[in-house]
Parts: sequence; C-alpha cells; structure tokens
Amino acid sequence: EPIVASAGDSNPDDRERKLRPRRLDEMVGQRDVIERLKIAIDAASGRGEPLGHILFDGPPGLGKTTFATVIPAEMGTTVQMANGAGLSAPKDLLPYLTNVSERSVLFIDEIHRVPKAVEEYLYTAMEDFRIDIVLGEGVNARTLNFELQPFTLIGATTRAGMLSAPLRDRFQIREHLGWYSDDQLCELVIRNARKLAIEIDQPAAGEIARRSRRTPRLANNRLHWVRDYAQIKAKGTVTIGVARDSLDMIGIDKLGLDKQDRNYLETLIRVFGGGPSGLEAIAHTMNVSSDTLEDEVEPFLLRSELIVRTRRGRMATSKAFEHMKMPPPTV
Ligand code: ADP
Repeated sequence: EPIVASAGDSNPDDRERKLRPRRLDEMVGQRDVIERLKIAIDAASGRGEPLGHILFDGPPGLGKTTFATVIPAEMGTTVQMANGAGLSAPKDLLPYLTNVSERSVLFIDEIHRVPKAVEEYLYTAMEDFRIDIVLGEGVNARTLNFELQPFTLIGATTRAGMLSAPLRDRFQIREHLGWYSDDQLCELVIRNARKLAIEIDQPAAGEIARRSRRTPRLANNRLHWVRDYAQIKAKGTVTIGVARDSLDMIGIDKLGLDKQDRNYLETLIRVFGGGPSGLEAIAHTMNVSSDTLEDEVEPFLLRSELIVRTRRGRMATSKAFEHMKMPPPTV
C-alpha cells in the first residue's frame, strides 16, 4: 500500500492561507495605504458603485495578494483570482470577465505579464465594462459585444515600470507596498505564533522579525521552521537562542539573508571582483533566471545598501564585502 501524504498544513500554500489576514484590521503595517483604501471603499459603497480599479506594486511577499482578498471581504463581495502569465490570448479573459458579478473583484497577479493583445481588451473592460471580441477572419469576421457587470479590477505587479502607460492610467487607485519595520514584523510573528499555538517570547519574536528581510511572507516561513525546530530540539518553547540556532541551521544570517542572497553577493565579489557586472552575467554564473534575481534577490540587497545599480552594472558596496567577510579590492 502506498503511503499517501495527508494534506495537513505542510503544503506551503495551505500554510500561507492559514495565516493570511481576512480583514483590513487584521493586517499589520501599511497604515497609510489602509487608511486611503478604507475611504475609497466606504465612499464607493455609499454610492452603491464598484470601487475604482486598484494597482498594487512592490516586491514579492509584502501583501499584494492579501489586499486583493481582504478588499472584497470588506466590501462583502467575491473575488476571482487570475495570473497574467495564464492570460496569453484574449479568449483566456472571457471566463473571468463573463463571471464577474456586480461590484465583484477580478484580481490579476503579475499583471505585467499580460501580453499586449490581451491588454487591449482590458481597456474597454475597465473603462466601459464592455468587451468587443472579433471572431473569425476576413469577410467572415464578426464582432461580438459583451456588456459586463460593473466590477473592480485589482492588479498586482513586482514591475510597475513594465506596465504600459494606457494600462497604468486606467487604475484609479495606485498603491506601492513598501518594506515593513522590524517592529511591525515582530507584531506579526507574535500574532501568528498565537494562531499556531507556539510558545514564544518577545526577544525571540524580535530575532525572527530581524531575520525576515522586512517581508511578512518570510517572517511566516521562518516562524514555521522555528516551530518545527523547537518542537524537536527544545520541547516546543521558542527562546531567542532557539530562534538563532534554528535560523543559522538553514543558512539565514543576521541580516536575514538566505543562501541565495549570499550566493549573489559572493558571485558578485569573488567572480566579478565586486562589479560592476551586468545582471545577466551574474544570473548565468549562479545558474538562476535574471527575473528571479531582479524580483526576489536584488530589491532587499539594494535597500540594505549591500549593492548599488550603476549605469555599468551592479556593484557590491563596502558593507557587502564586510558582511561577507571578504577583503575589499585594493585600489
Ligand atoms: P504578495 O502578493 O505581495 O507577494 P502576499 O499578499 O501573498 O504577498 O503575502 C504573503 C503572506 O504574508 C500572506 O499570506 C500573509 O500571511 C502575509 N502578509 C502579507 N502582508 C501582510 C500584512 N500586512 N499583515 C499580515 N500578514 C501579511
């Protein structure tokens, strides 16, 4: 008999869902964004209109998808989830658009990956709640016009700069999600530890927060690992020592950098002498995609002033040499 793994909560998606806030008041940080959204939501609801289209941008794991699920919950409406990478032809949009109900939300994650030919259908959908689809070709071509229910499109992207101006301009509300403070992440860790019935004290929560790259998703991931470790090695109690030892064990250092982050710095310093080096060259050497580096690795390294971007490429800063305990180049 094969042993079938139970779904449990070992699946990262399930874990993520379990800790995802359901209402705006359950979210930590982003107070100014939340303040503005509350006003827009209340105003639209008061008028009985759909909320204006919203674009969220910012690095991965900072709450874009969370907002996209919390906002419809606040409005008492439903949400459909789509991904820009899955919308390769206009027909891929149809099931979503024909399913929108009045004032419901359509969420398109990675909206910068929607191809131009599909993007154009979004324009009339967003502006006039209408789509005109051309079927057939030449003399047989005919246009079908669909009236859509007035709805709200929420788009999310890690690359705001890659959106075309016409698409960007059709979002009435644009919000950038920035990094969280250590205090905000500490609050998140304590709150989620309670949800998961983990025994943890303030210093330990602070240590996990400081090693989470200012990112709620990473704080939650680290907390799950620390819990496993504590259960096996420390009778389930998370102290600061337990937090440190468990995070050291999986290669997360004092700045919160993981193995891939340090591999990036090491490549830039050891192979390219600290730079300047092009992104592609670093990506090839590390054998990872340049998209991954640009989306997931570089933003935090830039923010931490471990690297800088110059016209000639990426450069490691003296802080990076120090952190990696590598001798800076002699000039
Ligand atoms: P993104 O879509 O920007 O990549 P997500 O919204 O999926 O990020 O966030 C990842 C996880 O981090 C969520 O499942 C949620 O548990 C947590 N999270 C993100 N932002 C917040 C927040 N402001 N408050 C509490 N938890 C958050």
